[in-house]
Amino acid sequence: MALSDTTEIHQFPCLDDNYGVLLHDTESGTTIAIDVPHAGAYEQALQDTGWTLTHILITHHHWDHVQGLGELKKKTGATVIGPERSRQKIAGMDRTVEDGDDVLCGPYEVKAIATPGHTLDQISWHIPSIGVAHTGDTLFSLGCGRVFEGDKEMMWSSLSKLLRLLPDETVIYAGHEYTEANARFSLTIEPDNPALQARAREVADLRAAGKPTLPTTMAAEKAANPFLRAGEPSVAKALGMEGKSATEIFTEIRTRKDNA
Ligand SMILES: [Zn+2]
Repeated sequence: MALSDTTEIHQFPCLDDNYGVLLHDTESGTTIAIDVPHAGAYEQALQDTGWTLTHILITHHHWDHVQGLGELKKKTGATVIGPERSRQKIAGMDRTVEDGDDVLCGPYEVKAIATPGHTLDQISWHIPSIGVAHTGDTLFSLGCGRVFEGDKEMMWSSLSKLLRLLPDETVIYAGHEYTEANARFSLTIEPDNPALQARAREVADLRAAGKPTLPTTMAAEKAANPFLRAGEPSVAKALGMEGKSATEIFTEIRTRKDNA
């Protein structure tokens, strides 16, 4: 992993299938939480690690990402940064960001990448200096978020943006442990993709052992995730959609997943 020598990351399950993530710099003591599905789970994680929370980054307004925010902020006094688009929806934000904004959290320069589609406010957070990103409910391992507020074209444009902006070695955290079901679906799209077959086996082994399948990497997702591969000729061929645009192919894949 491309983590710097002083960064430690703690990921832990919250609610049914959400993840909490704490990112900590051992030198400065900076500790960043990404989303707060459950305040108690975060308090426990902070106790387990001995870290003191300094910042909370929010990816989007959905309940299962912010419902613990008020309580955790009250208990820790951490600075809360989230999407400007949800200024009215998310209580307790100290600072808001729009696409392309940079925020400093201790030694970390964190980039806000607007990736609307699942929701209109969705922000993916990227820390280039340590090669880590959190893609919220936009990009999952072997999947992408359901399109609730935007449209499928918007979601494809957001995923394309991540393809452009996140280097292959970027370590990807995301909001949910959906990978096993995503793997089953992905194999219906590209059954002959060896990278997908290998990842599906790995995921089955990890889940059987009770282990998380996240984080993943951009390289792994580019090789196996059909939602990111909508522009690949092999996917067009597998779907019998040669000559169609990546947007059309993404729309077909997302529609099939919605109906699966
Ligand atoms: Zn969501």
